[in-house]
Amino acid sequence: MSWARQIHLKSQAELQTMREAGRINAEVLATVRALLKPGVSTADLNAAAEDVLRKHKCVSPFKGYGHPPFPTSITVSVNRELVHGIPSKKRILKEGDIVSIDCGTVLNGLVADSALTAGVGEISPEARNLLKVTEEALALGIEKMRVGNRTGDVSAAIQKHVESNGYFVTREYTGHGVGRQMHEGPQLPNYGKAGAGLPLKPGMTIAIEPMVLIGTEQTRILPDHWTVVSADGSLTAHFEHSVAVTEGDPLILTVP
Ligand code: MG
Ligand code: MG
Repeated sequence: MSWARQIHLKSQAELQTMREAGRINAEVLATVRALLKPGVSTADLNAAAEDVLRKHKCVSPFKGYGHPPFPTSITVSVNRELVHGIPSKKRILKEGDIVSIDCGTVLNGLVADSALTAGVGEISPEARNLLKVTEEALALGIEKMRVGNRTGDVSAAIQKHVESNGYFVTREYTGHGVGRQMHEGPQLPNYGKAGAGLPLKPGMTIAIEPMVLIGTEQTRILPDHWTVVSADGSLTAHFEHSVAVTEGDPLILTVP
């Protein structure tokens, strides 16, 4: 992926549309999350997501994306799968799994992108802590999305929280500008130096997405060409919000 991608500062009207797309994306994630039960297939989750998108006359930018074209509207990544898992009728959830659900919504040409990870039934204390730390890292990153800060301040806040809890962030996949396209500038890694990177400006919209692994920062891609797994098979988690920089507090676009 080339990161000479352009940064587009969004107008108020664009932000309003992205906020609406974000609301729909949040509805998709909440709907899918409510279905996380033993015996459900990951294809069932994609079907439920597509029902919500259809109701709102929206599509996900994931479907048909990349090479080979991604086949579904959401990604579903279970346990050691960090991101980009392909939903399948054969993949049946079981008690104790942790499941990352990632979706995008395009509304009137503008994109919102968010993800969450949740458990199926009762999960282990280790899995629970991984989810807690990853979601906290996202919140700490969002808090840095302010004029006067730089992208490195967001990255460093995420990395510091994850590593101080003994976990790892991936180096190979990053957050990204979002809006007129699913991926635009700036790139937002989950590691970095405070004070480094590009200055944050009002109208910047960035998908911040900590991707956290228990045992290693190394990943590999399965033969399906998409699914990214931890190299050591350890559990992983992923949370994401699309967030706008404003003159004041950060504006989270992908909440209900
Ligand atoms: Mg996403
Ligand atoms: Mg993203």
